[in-house]
Amino acid sequence: MGFNVAIDGPAGAGKSTIAKLVAKEMNFIYVDTGAMYRAIALYLLRKGIKPTDKDKFASECQGADVSIQYVDGVQQVLLNGENVSGLIRTEEVGNMASASSVDGKVREKLLDLQRNLAKENDVVMDGRDIGTNILPNADVKVYLTATVEERAMRRYRELTEKGTECDLETIKKDIAERDERDMNREIAPLKQAEDASFIDSSDMSIEEVKNAICDLIAARK
Ligand code: C5P
Repeated sequence: MGFNVAIDGPAGAGKSTIAKLVAKEMNFIYVDTGAMYRAIALYLLRKGIKPTDKDKFASECQGADVSIQYVDGVQQVLLNGENVSGLIRTEEVGNMASASSVDGKVREKLLDLQRNLAKENDVVMDGRDIGTNILPNADVKVYLTATVEERAMRRYRELTEKGTECDLETIKKDIAERDERDMNREIAPLKQAEDASFIDSSDMSIEEVKNAICDLIAARK
């Protein structure tokens, strides 16, 4: 078993930014499980399925094979052998991932991939159900959050910097809807594991959050 760090939290809390930095500092690999759900979402969208087609997710996702590889230390997500890493960061794919990840069959497809990565490597894995469901025995668990306003503003800045036109109020609404779905779904809902450390990053710098998590890891090593 590798040394496992689980970081869960709502959309836009800064999980991936922080997890990447922590992984680099600790020389662990970073596993972005949201990217795996996004790859399945892309597969469904390409089949013409809509976020409201709940009944179709289980059967239609069966042809999707998701795997990952690392290029220069950066996780790449492969969908049936195609590197789709550059295609999964849109709001459309994010919303579809949030809708389809409610389905037990979709989640089942990714379970072994995630657990095996943690078994074979020292990992910082981020997602929604890592500390509660995927890696219940993780060495360090963190629940990372921030206010909806702050999370929406961060995503707005991120998209604007990339030159993507977007509207702050729409992003805020999407994030609130995603929170609602992620936290209230029946299977593996987003919630803080009992033994997770709670970090509200609303008024913290990236460096401060990273250091707080590295301190938790150092205390367990
Ligand atoms: O973190 P990210 O925004 O990339 O995740 C996309 C969606 O995938 C989330 O809104 C969530 O519904 C789903 N997800 C999940 N479980 C995870 C990771 C992501 O349900 N471990």
